Amino acid sequence: MSRISFTTATLPARKRIALVAHDHCKQYLLDWSERQRDRLARHHLLATGTTGQLLGQRLQLPIESMISGPLGGDQQLGARIAERRVDMLVFFWDPFEPQPHDPDIKALLRVAAVWNIPVACNESSADYLLASTLMEQAHDYRIPDYDSYLQGRR
Ligand code: PGA
Repeated sequence: MSRISFTTATLPARKRIALVAHDHCKQYLLDWSERQRDRLARHHLLATGTTGQLLGQRLQLPIESMISGPLGGDQQLGARIAERRVDMLVFFWDPFEPQPHDPDIKALLRVAAVWNIPVACNESSADYLLASTLMEQAHDYRIPDYDSYLQGRR
């Protein structure tokens, strides 16, 4: 990262929040999202396939669903982050079970770090994120400066 320079972008007041939970964590995410329903309802929600289907049923809110995570849904969300079409990631990944799509999970978390979006990997940090005053306002944040990255490679 030290060779990368940065620029400033603006996160919108209405955030595009990606939600993902591994199978053993889906119940935690559903319970958490129900508790946070009023706050979540003010934003645009996206999810991997199965997580999205369950969230839609539980919350009765529109959820933009990708395909299922193990079939490529994590990669779809990662691509959206790189395109700056996802502003926040709530990802309850399973710390106790290996996953067949581990490379995709790692890639999703990596690209979220690259593009400096807020990430919560458990209930407590997700609560902290949603309680932030920044959730309801547009604010500036730092992203990689892709133009100067390209110039540096010429
Ligand atoms: P799912 O995917 O929501 O389709 O179960 C989650 C994941 O394992 O990445």
